[in-house]
Amino acid sequence: MPNIDLHCHSNVSDGILPPAAVAARARANGVDVWALTDHDEVGGIGAARVAALESGMHYVAGVEISVTWGGETVHIVGLQIDETNAELVHGLDATRSGREQRARDMAQQLATAGIPAAFEGALKYVGNPLLMSRTHFARYIVELGVCRDIGEVFRHYLAEGKPGYVPHRWATLGAAVGWIRGAGGVAVVAHPGRYRFSALAQDALFDEFKQLGGVAIEVTTGSHTPDQYDEYAKIANRYGFLASRGSDFHGPGESRVDLGHLPPLPDSVTPVWHNWPL
Ligand code: AMP
Ligand code: MN
Ligand code: MN
Ligand code: MN
Repeated sequence: MPNIDLHCHSNVSDGILPPAAVAARARANGVDVWALTDHDEVGGIGAARVAALESGMHYVAGVEISVTWGGETVHIVGLQIDETNAELVHGLDATRSGREQRARDMAQQLATAGIPAAFEGALKYVGNPLLMSRTHFARYIVELGVCRDIGEVFRHYLAEGKPGYVPHRWATLGAAVGWIRGAGGVAVVAHPGRYRFSALAQDALFDEFKQLGGVAIEVTTGSHTPDQYDEYAKIANRYGFLASRGSDFHGPGESRVDLGHLPPLPDSVTPVWHNWPL
């Protein structure tokens, strides 16, 4: 059975390694079919594809789009996209556009909370100035020794309601699914177990996603607990969604699950790749 990992990040968004190094690590970990899914960015796909094909992996063009739905941030992964599609490219430009001002606002709030110069500090970790993310701030705050690890930074400073949190309006669900489908891709709800929705709100999200033409959810992901693999397998079958698998790897020593190291999808689901020419 091929080892398929369809969710991870390079330093073109908030990962640590450049795209080619992520490809090399995926291959070394035994991945056969691989997608890089940087946040709101397709700029790493060219280098990732070259490295993947040279190392003998099957390459899948992907992206993870930030969406605001029901007052929460929801991530939608697009797979098998044409990354040159003009509407997708423009949509991602627009989605990224507020990030710098947001980062400046975050830095100001963090200064008030006793962490000075966080904009400049975070910038040291940024590989792509168009994509400053909370993760870059978290790495800087760990560097300062204020927190032991990134999870602690999020819990104390960067999660909603914490001093460094700046609310932001991302793309709409309809726009994100529309860009992905318009670019020939399939839309996947990323790590559904991570959102703080009631059962009712989660149903509404899946209903709307399905009506918009969304076809899959992540079931086995580094952002789920093992219990959630089974929980979301059942939910995928209940809704008639295909299932995806991806580590959500961000960097060595930083992610719960390394590239390619997840268990296989539960037998009960239909994989999102079931009809791909692999
Ligand atoms: P942003 O798009 O700037 O809001 O940053 C979102 C990113 O922060 C996610 O893609 C994760 O990589 C990271 N993140 C969010 N919550 C946590 C958490 N609790 N622990 C570690 N990383 C997190
Ligand atoms: Mn991330
Ligand atoms: Mn995500
Ligand atoms: Mn991700």
